[in-house]
Amino acid sequence: MNLNIILPLLLLISSAFCGDRPNIVFIFSDDHASEAISAYGSHLKDYAKTPHLDRIAQEGMLFKNTFCNNSICSPSRASIMTGQYSHKNGVLNLNGSIIDNSPVFTEELQKSGYQTWLVGKWHIHSKPRGFDKYKVVKGQGKYFNPTFYSNTTDELEKLEGYSSDVYTDRALQWLDKRDKEKPFCLLLHFKAPHHDYQYPPRHNELLKDVKIPEPSNLFEDVHNGDSHLKKAFLNESKFHLSRKGDNNDYYERHTAEMEPHDASNNRDKWRVAYQHMAKTYIRCVTAVDENVGRVLDYLDKHKLAENTIVVYSSDQGYWLGQHGFYDKRLALEESLRMPLLVRYPKLTKAGSVSEDICINIDYAPTFLDLAGVEIPEAMQGKSLKGILAGKTPDDWRKSVYYRYYASPKHSAIRTERYTFIEIAGKYELYDLKNDPQQMNNIADSVEHKALVEKLKKAKSDYEKEIGYSKAAVKNLNHSNRPPKKAKP
Ligand code: CA
Repeated sequence: MNLNIILPLLLLISSAFCGDRPNIVFIFSDDHASEAISAYGSHLKDYAKTPHLDRIAQEGMLFKNTFCNNSICSPSRASIMTGQYSHKNGVLNLNGSIIDNSPVFTEELQKSGYQTWLVGKWHIHSKPRGFDKYKVVKGQGKYFNPTFYSNTTDELEKLEGYSSDVYTDRALQWLDKRDKEKPFCLLLHFKAPHHDYQYPPRHNELLKDVKIPEPSNLFEDVHNGDSHLKKAFLNESKFHLSRKGDNNDYYERHTAEMEPHDASNNRDKWRVAYQHMAKTYIRCVTAVDENVGRVLDYLDKHKLAENTIVVYSSDQGYWLGQHGFYDKRLALEESLRMPLLVRYPKLTKAGSVSEDICINIDYAPTFLDLAGVEIPEAMQGKSLKGILAGKTPDDWRKSVYYRYYASPKHSAIRTERYTFIEIAGKYELYDLKNDPQQMNNIADSVEHKALVEKLKKAKSDYEKEIGYSKAAVKNLNHSNRPPKKAKP
């Protein structure tokens, strides 16, 4: 064999086994609304300033239409790990377990020679799979001085400090000690900015004397409105800013910390609750952003930025006062939408924006595809590689299927223009073009009758395609815990 053949062959082999496979840094947070990332340009963009997250968008791609298929912590996390809908991976509710025969992307990466690490919040009942090292908090974990369990020692370890800071400290220590001959996949999963949005003392003064703009539908009268879903959410979950007597009423939970106000005036209470929530939340997000900056700086300093895929996302969206709500769970926009920012200079043009409909089940196949690892057939999502390269496949999906298994139980299909919801045999339809705030349920209007029928069929076809049925859920064979009552 002559050198002209041997040399390229050797180069190919060496790049496949050590040199060029990209590293992956997947930074993930809990309940981070895209409205609280300035790159998304919302009404909060001048208040929730996130320069480091914005940098990922400026140097990579910002996804505008990424959604979860089940808007609550554990299920969204399980869908991300497995590339499967909740009814396939078995995590329907809080604290569910991933079934044993579901694929997990970190396991596939590990098998192919990646170093794999996870630090922070896991919040799935089954243990993390496919990690050389994991160090995770139990359940929600604490904002200050969190305690971790891991697969490298039987001892619990308590780290002194603020959660987002200490998770990042540990992630950077692992990067320092990495085997430089092998690619790595690091999952840095923050607890923040989950309720009650605790922040480090360095942000005590942030936005102190500022009035945060209110969303236009802050004072929506849900009780007298036309949405069964919103009413059910108020009656069952009660995540409202100010509804006296409700267990999860934000005002009742945090009154003592609020600015002076007229407690006899309900509008004032509502308003002051919103200001308290928005400021606390943004302070907590600011600490997430700072730690994202530390990771980006590390990659720069160690010349890893070029060959490392950096992904930032959150398990679902979050109500920041829209409809008077906080929290998530519903198939409505601010709850359904996930932030997604990806930087990979070798593939993605800086400053690009995607409007394509992506789902949390796409993350796992994307990581594998970008790493050059085969995607298990059981994964239901699609790789975003084409989109990241600026070439959306012609047959890319035009809608997302949604199902929430706890209370209020509902399912939905969200197309490019409409959100169509079924709750307890009733239907809701929102026209996102004419009613982006989703204030008018038009399902019962005569002129939309044909559209409702069309969407009923589309939803039922979607269920067939993804293998959803009541029987499929009933037959899930795994040691899942019985559904717990949903907690905040
Ligand atoms: Ca969450």
